[in-house]
Amino acid sequence: MLIVKIALPIPLNRTFDYCLAMNMPHPAIGARVKVPFGHRKAIGIVTSLSQSSAVSLEKLKNIEAILDDQSLFSDSLWQTLYWASQYYHYSIGEVLFHAIPLLLREGKQAKFEPVLHWVATEKGQTISIDALHKAPKQQKAMNQLLQGPIYHHEVNSLGFTQNTFQALQKKGLSLLCAQEIQSSDWRSKIKKMKGENRLQLNSEQIEAIKRIHHQNKQFVVWLLAGVTGSGKTEVYLRVLENLLIEGRQALVLVPEIGLTPQIVDRFRERFDVPIDVLHSGLNHKQRLSVWLKARSGEVAIVIGTRSALFTPFAQLGIIVIDEEHDGSYKQQEGWCYQARDLAVFRAKKENIPIVMGSATPALETLRNVELGKYQKLVLSQKAVQTQLVKQKFIDIKGLPLTSGLCQPLLKKMQQHLQANNQVMLFLNRRGYAPVLLCHECGWIAECLHCDHYYTLHQNSQKLRCHHCNRQSQLLSQCPRCDSTHLMPVGVGTEQLESTLLSLFPNVPITRIDRDTTRKKGVLEKYLSHIHEGGARILIGTQMLSKGHHFSDVTLVGLLDVDGALFSSDFRAAERFSQLYIQVAGRAGRAKKAGEIFLQTHHPEHPLLQTLLGKGYDAFAKEALEERKKALLPPYTYHIIIRSQDNDNEQAPIFLQRVRDIFESDSLKDTDLWVMGPVPALFSKRNGRFQWQLLLQHPSRKQLQQLVNRCNPLLLSLALNQKIRWSLDVDPTES
Ligand code: ADP
Ligand code: ZN
Ligand code: ZN
Repeated sequence: MLIVKIALPIPLNRTFDYCLAMNMPHPAIGARVKVPFGHRKAIGIVTSLSQSSAVSLEKLKNIEAILDDQSLFSDSLWQTLYWASQYYHYSIGEVLFHAIPLLLREGKQAKFEPVLHWVATEKGQTISIDALHKAPKQQKAMNQLLQGPIYHHEVNSLGFTQNTFQALQKKGLSLLCAQEIQSSDWRSKIKKMKGENRLQLNSEQIEAIKRIHHQNKQFVVWLLAGVTGSGKTEVYLRVLENLLIEGRQALVLVPEIGLTPQIVDRFRERFDVPIDVLHSGLNHKQRLSVWLKARSGEVAIVIGTRSALFTPFAQLGIIVIDEEHDGSYKQQEGWCYQARDLAVFRAKKENIPIVMGSATPALETLRNVELGKYQKLVLSQKAVQTQLVKQKFIDIKGLPLTSGLCQPLLKKMQQHLQANNQVMLFLNRRGYAPVLLCHECGWIAECLHCDHYYTLHQNSQKLRCHHCNRQSQLLSQCPRCDSTHLMPVGVGTEQLESTLLSLFPNVPITRIDRDTTRKKGVLEKYLSHIHEGGARILIGTQMLSKGHHFSDVTLVGLLDVDGALFSSDFRAAERFSQLYIQVAGRAGRAKKAGEIFLQTHHPEHPLLQTLLGKGYDAFAKEALEERKKALLPPYTYHIIIRSQDNDNEQAPIFLQRVRDIFESDSLKDTDLWVMGPVPALFSKRNGRFQWQLLLQHPSRKQLQQLVNRCNPLLLSLALNQKIRWSLDVDPTES
């Protein structure tokens, strides 16, 4: 009897045994099957075949159907996911299911489904476009059709309506087709860009490209450390060109596509090959289509965020990670993986190079360079000479502040706006004010479900909790003393905007934060508005700092520097430095000199002195020294165990027992450091109390072994106590 071991998308990190009926073919490892599970049917993934089972044969159920005739995963991806399940102590079934498109999880076929699209008929191909001048919409649609087929589902997003195409159909000019659009193989078409159109590379770029190229068929991790505007993207493009010519595909990971549409444009402009972008605007069908096309080799380049890492490829030649330091590569919920680390693992299994680019590399990455695991390539010069950026502190001790802005900065703004330049202000707090308080009795509006104040959102007349997203109506009276004197305390971007609107009544302002860009397409609209010069004052949270190139910005103001200097999070300094360098890179472009102002009560702070006086590398060096002395990552490794309860009792008791289990294990040595249980930074969220336990060890391997050993005990303990818990390996948030 053949036993098939199957992973199911449930939280238990184990597989389940099923029998295979005699008349069924052997399923491939990595193929989906349909099985009975409890009272329902489930879809699972075959992980291995075996001759025996620990369960008695009569109890085993039969597989009902085999859904794929081959594995959904390449060898290297399979190994990566298996390793990830172990390393992050997360259920193999959930990991495997996470890595495939939703439609496949639901059992849809892993095959191209015919997609409806409009094409130009033969008559349409030959018609003179002027003949349609009485119907401008049809003329425009026809023009577009002549450039290539248009997917039925994309008609609206391209600014057309189905009616227009139907009208063209009545005239015999267009036709709705169902066959797959035949794309000719890009491999036969790709050629090197002609010499005369090429940028003259500088010597550092040449060196970087040469070194990557010389080892482009083997696993090497490259850190491309280059200041903003030093031509890192140009290096990616050249490296990719060499690989595409050899018929190999590329995966490019970026932090957030909506924020950096330019990078996609640059790949599209450079290469006449199929490029697919995995962004949040895609529907599930489109996602499956990208997955299939990458797997068949039909698409040459896939650009996407974190989860694009799981895209299968026919012949992957390279992985590029842009802005490798960006926090968005770490998943913070559920399976808490670090895409950057997984990408390195995958590149190793694929035996291909991986290029990680940043102007402000993560300290972890720099440590790996120090250890000789990663190779560093440096671009120290701006590719295009720009004016120097003047950086200055404004000591705001004792100065009056208007919605967080001091007079000297306001004056500067006036000057820059008068010179017809753009001004950019950063404040990492959205909403109108972080606190609403009763002036008579001191009552503060608080979320009932979280240990957190409500943020006042004036425009929408709401109080909103930034932790659980609950909201309540804005009150006009204090619920405790009935006073109507409720006052906002502190400043958020919304307030900054409304104050600036009254201070600069004729200046158009654009605010970019999660509140203003919630609706699909709005961010893109705002960004192009800024590029066209429509907005003169830009206000934003750190969202605005990521990867923009606004050529008219000459003044940048950072309003709340002190918040970053005095944080309880040991990573705050690193994050602030990265933000600062990114932002400083935005001020002052080719022709215009830029200024950047930091409002602080502590201009003498050593971090600021190093960062502004000597730059990011010097900061990073000092920060690494400090981490080493303090025994913090990357010199030690962290695992956080989190648990939640409804009564604030069970969770700490559970974690205390967990602590005892670790401390009494024979693998425990004096290097293990356990902190907690302590309430989490936000100790209440969504009505549940949060506690955590931190494990720290200088050896990643020993820490992993210890957790592996103790895991079964934790599982049964949690089951007994009916407690929710989770484990975060290499956490980046505490
Ligand atoms: P980064 O990705 O490091 O921020 P980019 O690759 O975007 O830098 O380069 C910044 C600008 O400089 C772009 O407009 C790019 O076209 C241009 N550029 C890059 N390399 C060169 C070069 N060698 N000579 C001239 N311009 C260059
Ligand atoms: Zn009151
Ligand atoms: Zn809340």
